[in-house]
Amino acid sequence: MVSKVDRSPGADSSGVFRRPRIILRPKKVEDISTILQNIKSYPSPVRPLGADYSQARCVGGDGGTTLDTQPFNKILEIEGNLVRAQSGVRVGDLVRTLAERGLELPLTPEIANISLGAVATASLPQPSLQDGLAQMSSCVAAMKIITPQGKAMTVTDREPDLMRVLRSSYGLLGVVHEVVLKVRDIVPVKIDYQSFSLKEFGARFSSIVNAPGALRLQIFPFNDRITVERRILDVEASTSRSGIWQIRNSVLKNVLPVFGSSVGGMLAVPAHATLNRAARGVVMYAHEWMRELPREAWKARFTYSLWSFAQTEFPRLLSEYFAFCHAYHKQHRYRCNIVHTSSRLHRDRNSLFSLSYDGPAFTIEPSSVGDKGWDDFLIDFNEFASQRGGVPTFNQTRALQPGHVSKAFGERLKLFRSLRKRTDPLNRLQHSYFSHLMG
Ligand SMILES: Cc1cc2nc3c(=O)[nH]c(=O)nc-3n(C[C@H](O)[C@H](O)[C@H](O)COP(=O)(O)OP(=O)(O)OC[C@H]3O[C@@H](n4cnc5c(N)ncnc54)[C@H](O)[C@@H]3O)c2cc1C
Repeated sequence: MVSKVDRSPGADSSGVFRRPRIILRPKKVEDISTILQNIKSYPSPVRPLGADYSQARCVGGDGGTTLDTQPFNKILEIEGNLVRAQSGVRVGDLVRTLAERGLELPLTPEIANISLGAVATASLPQPSLQDGLAQMSSCVAAMKIITPQGKAMTVTDREPDLMRVLRSSYGLLGVVHEVVLKVRDIVPVKIDYQSFSLKEFGARFSSIVNAPGALRLQIFPFNDRITVERRILDVEASTSRSGIWQIRNSVLKNVLPVFGSSVGGMLAVPAHATLNRAARGVVMYAHEWMRELPREAWKARFTYSLWSFAQTEFPRLLSEYFAFCHAYHKQHRYRCNIVHTSSRLHRDRNSLFSLSYDGPAFTIEPSSVGDKGWDDFLIDFNEFASQRGGVPTFNQTRALQPGHVSKAFGERLKLFRSLRKRTDPLNRLQHSYFSHLMG
């Protein structure tokens, strides 16, 4: 019925401590119900595992049962503007299959490894083009879940309040085994780059955010530089495909963030020749910028953390962040050794813990190879972010404390907590990470 794959001795090789007593790979949907109903054989907490690439301990273990969704890897149906797939499907596999049919998701992440279970229930903000569509979970129109009591349930966006909570549920309200996602006809994306000093960025901020397109920033606090990558849907796509590929290779190599790099110092600012060329416009399809991380997350040798901040305050915030990075380096001789990135997020209330629930926002994502000093930097960065009204995630923000979470989510956290208590009174799905943070 289910295959036992491992008995974990303790912290796993990624360094994310978990220690489950048992790890299972259910083969059928009914197996999930059986596991959830049988507390003696399958101890609590039961924690669903997607692709296992989160930066925080949101999967967990705690002497319980890890339920690996990897065998649920089938794309079931592509019909009209919807695709139905199992929760263990990797978003990269889905996106490539859709592209072969001339379709795409309304949002495409840069990382291919993410599971659809995480797409549906975790925080995955992406550079956005419109209100209501700034997190991957907003692409989800329906999901099938097994409740903590082992009952099957289907929820669709005809029940927006329930969907809003489920889209932020991290496996705490049920195990998702199937999702329906919205798709659209594939559209080429024109990408332009502009580089600014902090002062120039502040002065031009209103035209930067008001011009059309999705925005991804590369931030260089020690070089006083911000590169703005603007992605515009290019319905007319005049550039020939061979031209696209030539430029794309150069851009991917030199301009987009470098993953898996073991650079010891600051990543170089993209070469001017490349930026000048790119500034004239690169055209590519969204699925072409996806990249595969190594099979084990820790081998990526790259780690990051993420908070979001109100768009209205962003230039001031960025200037304070530059000052924070300089002061931190002066005092502790530590600075992040990979480029900091940022995404602009339109207002999106489709998930309870959305990073842009209160209005348009920008993320700040410091990155590092995880060298000595990084963990301490994050503790201070979290304080910096929380004091300035930042909003964290439970899967991509490291070293979170309960105070950060209650300050950022307030009443929404209370609502989630009371719903969770009612739907899972025996704490079948909750582990110490969430009980510590959510109370
Ligand atoms: C080096 C690196 C770089 C990255 N860069 C980016 C990036 O640029 N952009 C980006 O968007 N992401 C990026 N990510 C991925 C990001 O960290 C995601 O948080 C993560 O990958 C989530 O997907 P997952 O399938 O690995 O989820 P997991 O870590 O396996 O799970 C995440 C949460 O979802 C829950 N869950 C999973 N499946 C189910 C299910 N079936 N039912 C209910 N709950 C479920 C889990 O219990 C857990 O709480 C990066 C990751 C790494 C390691």
